[in-house]
Amino acid sequence: MDILIVEDEPEIARLLQMTLETEGFSCHICRDGLVALRAFQEQQPDLIVLDLMLPSLDGLEVCARIRQKSGLKDPYILMLTAKGEEIDRVIGLSTGADDYLVKPFSPRELVARVRALLRRSLRQGGQQQIYRTQHFIVDVEQHSASRQLDPTSAEILDLTTLEFNLLTTFISNPGRVWNRTQLIDKLWGSDFFGDERVVDTHVARLRKKIELDPANPAFIKTIVGVGYKFEDPTV
Ligand code: CA
Repeated sequence: MDILIVEDEPEIARLLQMTLETEGFSCHICRDGLVALRAFQEQQPDLIVLDLMLPSLDGLEVCARIRQKSGLKDPYILMLTAKGEEIDRVIGLSTGADDYLVKPFSPRELVARVRALLRRSLRQGGQQQIYRTQHFIVDVEQHSASRQLDPTSAEILDLTTLEFNLLTTFISNPGRVWNRTQLIDKLWGSDFFGDERVVDTHVARLRKKIELDPANPAFIKTIVGVGYKFEDPTV
């Protein structure tokens, strides 16, 4: 899932990015309305977190122009507003925003809103949740994963739910380096209490199922002192 963050205040932009990337989303930041419109056309994000007060073109105008574009993926738009009169302008949502969030907001609240919007897209069937890389296909809705090591034969992988979720987390962000805390948050939730090395156990099990040589993994790489990353070219 790709999220475009449009926010001119650097600290809030960083907080948004950190919070959403921890949840496994890939994020791109713009600080200006016109730049955001270009980024939207080039990247076609699934969701846009859009600040109302922006230089050059405000959030309402950005929102209106995005909604006028046809032929491009229609993203979900979560508007950010400061307290006060701004809310009244947005609250009718006649602007084309799907939801709004009032500053200051907590990271937890932000994540809940983003997830609620993306769940809505799943219900509408608008989002195809299939990840393909050179050697793997993961179909989230079907809960199936397969591996294809040569062009003539594919094999269905027999994974536990946890292994499946771990593979999905990796494959949805190829090349991203995950630390153990981030993986625990993704797989068990942020209220997990226990030993972080539980992650290593599940990574080892997943490697046994997806790697040709689990002792010399080609796909799930260990990043010493940090954690893990998944490498396989997307197709
Ligand atoms: Ca602003």
